[in-house]
Amino acid sequence: MEIDPAPQRRSAPVRTCIGCRERELAVDLLRIVAQDRDAGDGSRIVAIVPDSRRRLPGRGAWLHPLSSCLRAAERRRAFGRALRVSGNLDISALEHYLENRHEHS
Ligand SMILES: [Zn+2]
Repeated sequence: MEIDPAPQRRSAPVRTCIGCRERELAVDLLRIVAQDRDAGDGSRIVAIVPDSRRRLPGRGAWLHPLSSCLRAAERRRAFGRALRVSGNLDISALEHYLENRHEHS
């Protein structure tokens, strides 16, 4: 990724991608949230879902909308840490979102 030599606008919020840990303008990151749900057998599943409209309640985390950052976050177990959740994490909704998104890079 190229580094822009121009200083970033001070008003633009910056967040850290939980995959690669790089700081990035929030507008270029995907917000993700955890949604608890019943697995149907008494156990619970925590689904990690994309919040592209940034409207979902709860604690959010930020990720580059790239499968490489998704994999990095998964490998480092960053979802549970960033979203303060534990147990079975289901990232299929996030994978699906990224697979269907056109990636520029
Ligand atoms: Zn990243």
